[in-house]
Amino acid sequence: MEQKVIYPGTFDPITLGHHDIACRAAQIFSEVIVAVADSPGKKQPFFNTQERVELAQQVFADVANIQVVAFSGLLMEFVRAQGARVVLRGLRAASDFEYEFQLAGMNRSMFPEVETMFLTPDEKYMFISASLVREVSILGGDVSQFVPSLVAERLKLKIQSC
Ligand code: ADP
Repeated sequence: MEQKVIYPGTFDPITLGHHDIACRAAQIFSEVIVAVADSPGKKQPFFNTQERVELAQQVFADVANIQVVAFSGLLMEFVRAQGARVVLRGLRAASDFEYEFQLAGMNRSMFPEVETMFLTPDEKYMFISASLVREVSILGGDVSQFVPSLVAERLKLKIQSC
């Protein structure tokens, strides 16, 4: 019955793990909205919102039912504005579970009409995190096996210009 799913995150930058999750969802839902958080509540992002959105748009350019948009403020307000009822999150390992479980529980208390669904990535992407990708890149390491090639290029350019 559900057509649309919202996949929110920081995507700083988008990795092959994020890509795997969104593509799996695109085979189940008719529309996947990759929602790039403007103010993630974390520290200053490495790529600004526009850069993160553009990178994800390029990565999903060939997947017709995946759209990338930025959002700010409360995720659930965005979900409502989109007319959606399902939020998608990725689970990598047990370490993600506690936080994701709390988040889903709080969201359910506040917005009982919205469900959170979880997908796990292919095992080769299980260990990838955007924060480690940034760290390795900044230290001059090769992250090409963890991110789409255009993201690896963009990381190199950004680091050179810093
Ligand atoms: P992070 O900064 O932790 O990499 P985001 O805030 O961008 O992640 O994450 C958006 C969602 O994607 C979260 O549900 C997160 O658990 C999930 N995710 C992140 N990396 C992966 C991965 N390698 N495999 C599966 N899910 C992932």
